[in-house]
Amino acid sequence: MLAVKISDHLKKLAKQSPAVKNQFYFSNLELHQKGAGLKSFNCEDPLLEEKYEKTKGLIHKYRSRVLILLTLSCASYCRFCTRRRKVSEIKKGVITKADIQKMLAYLLKNPEINEVIFSGGDPLTVPKTLKYALKTFGRLAQIKIIRIGTRAPVSQPKLVTKDILAAIKKIKQPVYVGIHFEHPDELTEETIETCHRLRKAGAILFGQSVFLKGVNDSYEILEKLFSRLIEIGVKPYYLYRCAPVASIEHFRVDFEKELAIATKLRKNLSGLAWPTYVIDTPDGNGKVPVPLNFWEFNKKYFKDFLGKKIKP
Ligand code: SF4
Repeated sequence: MLAVKISDHLKKLAKQSPAVKNQFYFSNLELHQKGAGLKSFNCEDPLLEEKYEKTKGLIHKYRSRVLILLTLSCASYCRFCTRRRKVSEIKKGVITKADIQKMLAYLLKNPEINEVIFSGGDPLTVPKTLKYALKTFGRLAQIKIIRIGTRAPVSQPKLVTKDILAAIKKIKQPVYVGIHFEHPDELTEETIETCHRLRKAGAILFGQSVFLKGVNDSYEILEKLFSRLIEIGVKPYYLYRCAPVASIEHFRVDFEKELAIATKLRKNLSGLAWPTYVIDTPDGNGKVPVPLNFWEFNKKYFKDFLGKKIKP
């Protein structure tokens, strides 16, 4: 069960913004949900991350890149978290230097891996571990790209410390920082300033968003969000359909409604401000781009990278 944790920064913001409140405050709707009715899929772990865990915290699913979960703690817990089966179990998620050395050994044995993605939980809640991981993997000649997935600039901007910025600055590889943004109300002065400081440290910023009922299921909200993000130096990258995870069903938006919103966004936003609208396929078979209403297509199912038919 995902714990409830809300930072002071977000508590203040939630007082003025129902969209922020809906993302972080517990709702009884989370109880007794089995996961969007997709009985043939694993609705606890739809991306099958447990299956691909090679050594503690390291998930190797795609040939050239690995996902590294540095912690299971976050500054605040999003109620729609797709990893809610384990996020907030902080003790279970502790990653030691010895664990990182085991990951290093795995990478050395698999030279086709050229990219590491630090995630969690939120890696910025464990700055010492993150700095050690950045130093360890940043030194590896085979690693060409480093990514950090975080919500700290939104959920607790003060976690982006001078120390972390200095560690990012030292890395010779490009460091891409992916930040979850769901609503324009999240773009406070502190958050904008934090993005600016990250960019000054050399990080390349991109945004990830999820369609969420009662938060951002409107053209006007998302148009404003993506237009503002590009102005503050964050490239909107992916707009996801909410995954069919147990206990987050109430956040899933009607598919036809999403398509209509996404189509209108594509029509009116610049190519730079437009994120790719995707479904992260249940069973962990990759992110499939959704065609928009400029085309006629069968909306009842799509095929994943392996050709398996899936209901959206
Ligand atoms: S910050 Fe990320 S990992 Fe943490 S609760 Fe939110 S979505 Fe889940």
